[in-house]
Amino acid sequence: MRLLITGGCGFIGSALCRRLVKNPEYSVYNLDALTYAADPSSLNSIKHLPNYTFIKGDIRNSQLVSEILTSNKIDAIMHLAAESHVDRSIDGPKIFLETNIIGTYSLLQAATQYVNSSHGIEKFRFLHVSTDEVYGDLEEDDAAFSETNAYRPSSPYSASKAASDHLVHAWGRTYNLPVLITNCSNNYGPYQFPEKLIPLMIISALQGDPLPVYGDGRNIRDWLHVEDHVEALEAVLLSGKIGETYNIGGNAERRNIDIVKLICTTLDKQRPRRDGKSYHDQISFVTDRPGHDRRYAINAGKINEQIGWEPVHTFTDGIENTIRWYLDNEAWWKPHLQGKHK
Ligand code: NAD
Repeated sequence: MRLLITGGCGFIGSALCRRLVKNPEYSVYNLDALTYAADPSSLNSIKHLPNYTFIKGDIRNSQLVSEILTSNKIDAIMHLAAESHVDRSIDGPKIFLETNIIGTYSLLQAATQYVNSSHGIEKFRFLHVSTDEVYGDLEEDDAAFSETNAYRPSSPYSASKAASDHLVHAWGRTYNLPVLITNCSNNYGPYQFPEKLIPLMIISALQGDPLPVYGDGRNIRDWLHVEDHVEALEAVLLSGKIGETYNIGGNAERRNIDIVKLICTTLDKQRPRRDGKSYHDQISFVTDRPGHDRRYAINAGKINEQIGWEPVHTFTDGIENTIRWYLDNEAWWKPHLQGKHK
């Protein structure tokens, strides 16, 4: 199977590439524009493999995408390229619309033209990787999101992802493109860019900086280890029913403040502060994010029942291993703290 991964130099995309190239029956082509969020060094362990190819380019360049599809006889696109950080979408929404909406549109157009003109529709798949944030938020006692929940996005990021999901559905329905959509909860794990909650807290703690917690810290997210997510993506690609959406979650709802406290407790054991104090002393509550969603929770029953996927990492083990990884891989994250990345 010849796979085009978009956004393969990002956090989840790189985990997906590292997983898929282990199987010699896959040829993996990674198309990434190398924005601030990309780190090609996340792929150092696989970059010399014969079944891995990196292509620097923008998903909005439909001529380039068409050439890649045709010349490599691509069987499936796994679309992860996106602007992905909610806070950045609040400060500057335009690039989110351009990348997440227009970028997805360009890919859909190129894919539709490709299957109609040369590849044929039967064997092709377009897997669109999206977020649970498209469903908006929940009260504490509401049932978890299922695939039939109405879309109610709150942030420019989630609105742009919701728009892209609708486009993918429409291209499936109108042009018969064989599409699949996944909506996943918050991911964590190695190689995550240090602007996201878990690496931000680990690294800020180690740097002796304040640990900024939005509002009262009682916002709840469901957390999934990135390796479980990419396993689910492969499973949906191979066994998902065309036109369907699958929610992917970790059964691990946690309040933000509890995550930050867990990180502090774990670091107190794994790398005690030199002054003998606890990392908890660095926690600092800051003004809440505008439009901050209260709670996300995923009902992953459909993917479990129909495809047989379930997460293998427990949150407790996953977070401990992730903290250990950041302690052991300062050379990976240190460069991201310089200049605009901070
Ligand atoms: P990321 O920000 O770490 O990586 C995004 C990658 O896309 C980067 O390598 C970047 O260079 C690339 N990219 C951006 N614009 C591009 C363009 N125009 N052309 C080509 N490449 C471009 O993102 P992530 O956290 O790995 O998320 C990947 C996907 O998964 C996104 O679509 C996101 O919405 C979705 N998702 C993420 C999470 C999460 O918790 N991180 C949860 C659910 C869904």
